[in-house]
Amino acid sequence: METNNLIGHLIDGQDVYGTGRSQYVYNPATGAAEKRVLLADRQTVEAAIASAQAAFPAWRNTPALKRARVMSNLKQLLEQHADEICQLITAEHGKVLSDAMGELQRGIENIEYASYAPELLKGEHSKNAGPSIDSWSEMQPLGVVAGITPFNFPAMVPLWMWPLAIACGNTFVLKPSERDPSSTLLIARLALEAGLPPGVLNVVNGDKEAVDALLLDTRVQAVSFVGSTPIAQYIYATGTAQGKRMQALGGAKNHAVVMPDADIPQAVSALMGAAYGSCGERCMAIPLLVAVGDATAEALITGLRTEIAKMRVGPGDDARSDMGPLVTRQHYDKVRAYVANGVAEGATLLVDGREIELPKGYEDGYYLGPCLFDHVTPNMRIYQEEIFGPVLGVVRVSSLQAAMDLIDAHEYGNGTCIFTRDGEAARYFSDGIQVGMVGVNVPLPVPVAYHSFGGWKRSLFGDLGAYGPDGVRFYTRRKTITQRWPSAGLREAAVFSFPSNQ
Ligand code: NAD
Repeated sequence: METNNLIGHLIDGQDVYGTGRSQYVYNPATGAAEKRVLLADRQTVEAAIASAQAAFPAWRNTPALKRARVMSNLKQLLEQHADEICQLITAEHGKVLSDAMGELQRGIENIEYASYAPELLKGEHSKNAGPSIDSWSEMQPLGVVAGITPFNFPAMVPLWMWPLAIACGNTFVLKPSERDPSSTLLIARLALEAGLPPGVLNVVNGDKEAVDALLLDTRVQAVSFVGSTPIAQYIYATGTAQGKRMQALGGAKNHAVVMPDADIPQAVSALMGAAYGSCGERCMAIPLLVAVGDATAEALITGLRTEIAKMRVGPGDDARSDMGPLVTRQHYDKVRAYVANGVAEGATLLVDGREIELPKGYEDGYYLGPCLFDHVTPNMRIYQEEIFGPVLGVVRVSSLQAAMDLIDAHEYGNGTCIFTRDGEAARYFSDGIQVGMVGVNVPLPVPVAYHSFGGWKRSLFGDLGAYGPDGVRFYTRRKTITQRWPSAGLREAAVFSFPSNQ
């Protein structure tokens, strides 16, 4: 996969390298540029699409049970290679190893779901829809489909897409994040080992040039995208203008509401993980805590300060670290600038993670300690914009309704949660809130693999969410066949009225 630390592509079952553009892949723990990733040009992407196109007819006609068996084999291989995969995630993304293991496990659950393909694709049948007429609906694959994925879950988010698409009979071209591509590529190679024929899954590394080649190629029938909202909107608009089926999951700014009757210690420990886990680089992270009442805010802040003081920031491969570095120097600078901006706009910075002591040898890593703001208000940029870093802001409101009005007015609607002991409040909140995924005393309500993932508002462009039942619908199209086998006794004269069962 890697030649002299050069990360190439996987096309038609072969490692492909080239001499075109490339960029560094950094180890965020040390700041060292350890590898280079090739950035595919249009011709390389077209070769991957051609391979997928050629593999489609045979794969489409491979029994769903055989396709599903590849997924079962892959699950085993991923479990065998879990350490290697997670080390690659940590070395390029920065997250702590236990968190990398969690993301891989959630990815594997999507493979388990895909391995039910024969059951998922059974379709619907109606006997005697008319006299001696049978009618049934089939779920047929689309052909070549593509996936474009973000840096923050290099194993899990691609596994939201291609296992189900492929189990449904499609062939796939994946364009992972150029910031941490190695674990994604390793998993794809293991899928070949598990029994995927060459061309069924291709991986091209790259940036906008590769993405545009996928969006504009008429052979690509559908595209799944996960990333930031401005890019999601561009991808969705460009793909739909080409007549493709599109789904584009975007960014987020998730609020956690804490009611006065909540179990505060439980809320504090849940919010610590939700705000600072993976350095805040999760689309379901909680960067905003909406405290109902000043007493609730004070109690939460006291608890959070105590827990933050115990946190250890350090390299992700050190088991003592709770939080690793941010992904790149550029992102680190951006998140620091948000912290400065919050101070300038008048929020109270209770915990400043900008000056932290680092273990020796890691001074050039992209470490930012946990930051905690109080008195964040909706007019501030740190309230409105996705920071994607370890920055938690407390917003104070006087009622549940005020909290809900704030959330509903926000441009994003990915996830939210409420901490309370009051079932009526929880029910009112979860029923009415304009957000796609809701937790009740659960801070990160990421749906399990047999449900589907999708935010509302500017967190999702398209009608169907990722994976689960929505994934099956996205990666298949319905064909309804109505059939009659005329027999002598049933021959009729021509009928010119619309057929009905009258
Ligand atoms: P990003 O939007 O920068 O990149 C995502 C993908 O788009 C990458 O593969 C990248 O190469 C490509 N890309 C980037 N710029 C492009 C351009 N101008 N034209 C075409 N393609 C382009 O996102 P990221 O920084 O890698 O990931 C973080 C973002 O992803 C956050 O906003 C986060 O909320 C979001 N995210 C959302 C979900 C979700 O399910 N809603 C899940 C994970 C991450």
